[in-house]
Amino acid sequence: MELTWSYERVEQLTRLWEEGLPAAEIGRRMGLTKNAVIGKVHRIALTPRIVTELPRQHYAFEFAGGSCLWPFGHPGQEDFRFCGAAPVTGKPYCAEHAARAYVRPKDH
Ligand SMILES: [Zn+2]
Repeated sequence: MELTWSYERVEQLTRLWEEGLPAAEIGRRMGLTKNAVIGKVHRIALTPRIVTELPRQHYAFEFAGGSCLWPFGHPGQEDFRFCGAAPVTGKPYCAEHAARAYVRPKDH
């Protein structure tokens, strides 16, 4: 079953797709199923969305464990380093830095 794709509807689909709306949402707005939207997108060869993956650095730090991750300096600079002291169990920081990292705003 092929629905009629007028120029206007292809335009609308293209615009919604490029706005980054989910296929299901585009379908809802245009009265189509999600699969119909995806199928049409593939047929008219719209640019695939680029999925940017967030840096994994944070997780690497967590898994590395074993030393305080309180940063000194700024990432990317030559003198950037972590504290490196033994961390408090369950925290990524040593006792001193955990105290600084987890201070509640009203204690300031
Ligand atoms: Zn520390």
